[in-house]
Amino acid sequence: MTTIKTGAPVLGHMATTLGTASASPGEIDTGELEVGETRDGSSFSLPVAVINGAKPGKTLYMQAASDGDELNGVGVISPVVPQLDPATLSGTLLIVGIVNYHAFQVGEHRNPIDDTKMNRTYPGNESGTSSEQIAHATFQAAKRADLILDLHQGSTSRMIDEVRVRCGKHHRLYDECLELAKVFGVECGHVLDQKGPDGQLARVGPDKGIPTVDPELGGCVGWDESSIEKGVAGVFNVLDHYDFLPDDATYVRQTRANGFDQYGSPAGGLVRFQYELGERVRRGETLFEIITPFGESKARITADSDGLLWRTRRLPQVATGEYVCSVGTNIDSY
Ligand SMILES: [Zn+2]
Repeated sequence: MTTIKTGAPVLGHMATTLGTASASPGEIDTGELEVGETRDGSSFSLPVAVINGAKPGKTLYMQAASDGDELNGVGVISPVVPQLDPATLSGTLLIVGIVNYHAFQVGEHRNPIDDTKMNRTYPGNESGTSSEQIAHATFQAAKRADLILDLHQGSTSRMIDEVRVRCGKHHRLYDECLELAKVFGVECGHVLDQKGPDGQLARVGPDKGIPTVDPELGGCVGWDESSIEKGVAGVFNVLDHYDFLPDDATYVRQTRANGFDQYGSPAGGLVRFQYELGERVRRGETLFEIITPFGESKARITADSDGLLWRTRRLPQVATGEYVCSVGTNIDSY
């Protein structure tokens, strides 16, 4: 008589690997995807994660920082992964957390090794330039998926939050790509629907039969918390719509501000914030300080109300009356 052990992996539902990350159904693993060598001869790898749902389903591929100065996508993936429970997930997520390794190191848009824009090199070339090799390695992972999200932003310029459909209206996967954009972009509210240049992942993915979109999450130097929140919501919208998550666990609670207080500077000098962007602000406490180049305090500005530091100027230098920051007020979660 054969005893069937309960909880044993279902036959045919084996571990999924990406680089050194390997996860059986119901497991999550992180690891590295080795691509090549740096100029000192040491190997370099991209950080990867595999989230293998306990139940079968679709496969979603997601990547961030294809452009090395576009960090909002990294800001999306880093809170999303810890919120996912593989025990309740249906399907699999394959994630490359940072694509443009070399550009990311120096905070630049293009890969400094070959001075090339990554998102013109897909599907890549295993024996090509640095960017082509990275594109090849990441596309090998992407083409295993049923859906692709390539998280971008408007570089360091300021931009609205939008989602791009790049396959063109005559593509056989156009409707599927547009649907994916609409699902992701519920919080963004804008879709750019225009055929993109050759070499974009959002072009090459659909050519391989995989609906692909390019969310453009605002634009900033570093992280923009409001764009990241929209991106996090977008990923969960996708996981819900394509049945990765059970209905009742679809939407994570989100922080919402119901108003804004804007702050200008009463003095000229350099701004020192007392809170991180996105941090809760307490009424009456110092919000920011204006200092001289020698660190002397010229003014301390206190918060008028409780809230959350929502937006700040990009550069530290400020003139009297100039915009410094906004605090989101009447914060709740929904
Ligand atoms: Zn980009």
